[in-house]
Amino acid sequence: MSAPSAPTPIRAAAAGAVEARKTYGKGEAAVHALAGVSVAFPAHEFTAIMGPSGSGKSTLMQCVAGLDRLTSGQAFIGDVDISRLDKNQLTLLRRDRLGFIFQQYNLIPSLSARENILLPLTLAGTDPDPAWFDQVVHTVGLGDRLKNLPSQLSGGQQQRVAVARALVPRPDIVFADEPTGALDSRTGIEILGFMRRAVDDTGQTIVMVTHDPHAASYANRVLFLADGQIVDTMEAPTADRVLDRMKRFEG
Ligand code: ADP
Ligand code: MG
Repeated sequence: MSAPSAPTPIRAAAAGAVEARKTYGKGEAAVHALAGVSVAFPAHEFTAIMGPSGSGKSTLMQCVAGLDRLTSGQAFIGDVDISRLDKNQLTLLRRDRLGFIFQQYNLIPSLSARENILLPLTLAGTDPDPAWFDQVVHTVGLGDRLKNLPSQLSGGQQQRVAVARALVPRPDIVFADEPTGALDSRTGIEILGFMRRAVDDTGQTIVMVTHDPHAASYANRVLFLADGQIVDTMEAPTADRVLDRMKRFEG
């Protein structure tokens, strides 16, 4: 237990939410997916979001990442209150400042791996930094597969393309929802190790939803959600400690 008067460490937030609420449906059928969440995701750190199925993990990530709207409260990217942005402004903010990795890789089937990786920059009309592009592609281990279509790649290779696509534009923050959920454990470990190095070596900020304690152990910090609220946080998580904490949600 820390002393109640201990000052809160000030860490610049890359994104966050204040009193975030998201309600689906109305009246007796209403589901409070987010029931008043206030959170800050520190810049240049890796934060994992965990919690039982249906606890609001994806909803929190999607609302902070501007993919969905809160019912009330505020969501921030840096100091921009995205709840005030219109659809076009949100689209531009996502394009210019955010990267996304999903469980389903969401690659464009008709584009090569290289074209998929470069697509966010192509859409933004920006040239890639060739040295960084090479480094990302080399690190995710895609070197000789860049000309292949997604259908010619394994699931793990497709997720490597998706990770590279998120990181090559050097976004302010990468949001990942179960990025290793569809991968075998060895490929998952490689992807997580790469995300960790992107934080340590290049100062990338990452927010990752996962239900896997081992995946969460790559983060600096784990936030635990239950019934649409943050109920706990853990610094410097290990898989064992996360697993123990998750067990307390059961039964
Ligand atoms: P998690 O990612 O933690 O599994 P979600 O954020 O997907 O949880 O969902 C939180 C709650 O909101 C769940 O009860 C879910 O059924 C509900 N929910 C999510 N999306 C919708 C939707 N589009 N319509 C209605 N209910 C939804
Ligand atoms: Mg989810």
